[in-house]
Amino acid sequence: MSLQRFALHIAIRLAAPLALGLALAGQAGAQTASPDPTAEAEGAKTVALLKQLIRFDTSNPSGDTAALAAFLRTQFEPLGVQIDVIPAPNGKAVHFIARLKGDGSKKPVLVAAHADVVPVERDKWSVPPFEGVEKDGFVYGRGAMDFKGGMAVFARAVMRLAEQKVPLARDVIFLAEADEEQGQYNTTWLARDHWDRMDAEFALNEGGYILQDAAGVVRQVNVTTVEKMSVVLRLRANGPVGHASRPLPSNETANGKLIAALEKLSVYEPGIQLIPQTRAYLAALARQNPGPVARGIDKILAGADARTQAEGERELLKAKSSDAPLLRALMHNTMAITMFKSGQAANVIPGEAEAIINARLLPGATTDQLIDEVKRVVHDDSVIVDFATPASQEATRNYYLAKSKTPESSTSTELYQSLQKNAALIWPQAQTVPVLFEAGTDAVAWRERGVPVYGIYPYPLDADILKGMHGHDERIAVRSLYEGTDWVYRILLDVAKK
Ligand SMILES: [Zn+2]
Repeated sequence: MSLQRFALHIAIRLAAPLALGLALAGQAGAQTASPDPTAEAEGAKTVALLKQLIRFDTSNPSGDTAALAAFLRTQFEPLGVQIDVIPAPNGKAVHFIARLKGDGSKKPVLVAAHADVVPVERDKWSVPPFEGVEKDGFVYGRGAMDFKGGMAVFARAVMRLAEQKVPLARDVIFLAEADEEQGQYNTTWLARDHWDRMDAEFALNEGGYILQDAAGVVRQVNVTTVEKMSVVLRLRANGPVGHASRPLPSNETANGKLIAALEKLSVYEPGIQLIPQTRAYLAALARQNPGPVARGIDKILAGADARTQAEGERELLKAKSSDAPLLRALMHNTMAITMFKSGQAANVIPGEAEAIINARLLPGATTDQLIDEVKRVVHDDSVIVDFATPASQEATRNYYLAKSKTPESSTSTELYQSLQKNAALIWPQAQTVPVLFEAGTDAVAWRERGVPVYGIYPYPLDADILKGMHGHDERIAVRSLYEGTDWVYRILLDVAKK
């Protein structure tokens, strides 16, 4: 996106009602007001920083973030910011913390961004994934959207406060964290020994999407306040070992029993469960999409009976098929069959077979319920269902039980209120909604200690951009980075300024 188009967008968002905005979209040169030069200059700095961040290949595995942490030091140190660099025992995962000091009259605010990225299939990309290529108004590269884009936005907001020497009532902490995608040395590890460096009144991290419609108008600002819990189960079956030339009846073999169990699980559909955040999300979606989407949602929310709800869901998923996996994940506990292990040789019938199931539970659901449900569906006592864990079953059950009691983040804090207020300024046609995140993030380290965390990908995007997340040709719009930069800076100024 060129500066001219960005100027047009600013003009529309400040001056024009929706109808005018739509009429002007596509007519470059039809600006009605001058752009905010500061927002543009600051946005450009974020774009430049993002390109530099992408050039560090922090693919996980191996998740080596040492060079990136060293680079961040060179960016923050000249601003007189206190720096901590904390390497994990593997020598690769390195956490970087910059603390901008306030007068201490309030507890710190923290922004956290993971520095590692998922690996790439290089040959499937149309541009080199670690060069930070800018093309047609987008910055391309692994992490552009998840989450080096967010890191650039967060870092620039903190640097700008430092550059302007804004007097602060609280410390502002920037954390570039390691090993989010694999997890051994992530923020949960960091919090164990270094909690004092990351303790805050509230925090921002990755999470909710700022969704724009086909005309590029932002309609919904989703802020995650609660997450699903990931549970890894193991299914095991046993049977006689034999020669493959004399096959045994399928229902007697380990493979046969496991396959039958998985077949039942793969077509099983758990019922709809609506938590308040999902209700709010669906209600907002219905308001923006009159017609079949709204009609489907009405049936789900009215919840007269399970059959009507299921009917409503079918209508909704048909009308909004591109978002079907997400919508399904928000309304259900889900199970995905992710791994198999069986057999040693092509001509031997194996005596053991094992599959891994990754379940994602809604808040309030327990692993006891999950395991009972799986056993009921499988309906074969000879198939063993338990946790896939190197620890004991009891310890794992207790771990999940404690985790399931993690409180959600309140929407009445100063930080959430500021997110909402400033979103309304920048995207006046959008509604800010607290939502459930269908996956897990590093937020748990704070949330389980009672510190509210709000999850955002701080830039407008659409379904097309979301496809690049963990996929090929990951990218983010330059214009979106400009807006996100403006948004996050205003928020930090709001909550931290004296
Ligand atoms: Zn991420």
